[in-house]
Amino acid sequence: MGAALHLAHAEQPTPASRNRTKGKGSGGETFADFARQVYSDDRATPKARELLLAFGYATMVAHSEDDQDVHAVWVTARRAMGVTRTGREWRLDRAIAEDAPRYSSGKDRSRRVCAAPRLRPHPDGPDDFRNQQGICGTLADWENYALEKQAGTGWHRFHWFCKRHLDHLARVREQLREPNTLAPEPVPNRGGLLASYFDSDWLTTYRHRLGSPTWEPPVYGISADDWPTPGVEQIPPRARLRLAALDGTLLVETPSSHR
Ligand SMILES: [Zn+2]
Repeated sequence: MGAALHLAHAEQPTPASRNRTKGKGSGGETFADFARQVYSDDRATPKARELLLAFGYATMVAHSEDDQDVHAVWVTARRAMGVTRTGREWRLDRAIAEDAPRYSSGKDRSRRVCAAPRLRPHPDGPDDFRNQQGICGTLADWENYALEKQAGTGWHRFHWFCKRHLDHLARVREQLREPNTLAPEPVPNRGGLLASYFDSDWLTTYRHRLGSPTWEPPVYGISADDWPTPGVEQIPPRARLRLAALDGTLLVETPSSHR
């Protein structure tokens, strides 16, 4: 394992014979088309865009279809993104790990205000959020929440309670116990973009980059295109470029127009 990782650090000369007319992927898709898709993809973070463009550049522009030197392709993609600030790691490799598909509830945890019903108006006036929402609103301690797994998505909703309302907390936790067991696995909301743009053995690659040989992809699939998003139509199948993995080393094959 790890051949691609180590070989990428070896000095490899740029292939001398470059085909200047290349740059077309499946079905005549150009790098410009590809870049347009990447930049209009709302799911992509700036770093994920860099990652996709680096692989797109390496497979569609820098190396031709008959130039299948896997190491050269990876060196090109890695150099396109450069090294991390410490200089000890390729930013591309870091970005692959960050693209591992997962569900993150982080954003929903930020507002730790007590949800217990307000009995008397708060003195700060009728416009105060505690009066408008009819809640206690006191800051809750980090551990004092009841976790609700939502029925359709399995996404987490946090109900916070302050020290004075721990009785509410206990009651809500009890109420949620049964429904939570029926909720689905959370639909992923981060990563999975490499798999939606490139065909490859991403399972092996993500495991490798995460340093976790037992990592498993979400039950909904490894590609972000396959995840159901409430209120959003499924992304239609797109032509994907092929990056095949072999014994931990990734090979570039001819672009594929089917998935
Ligand atoms: Zn409270």
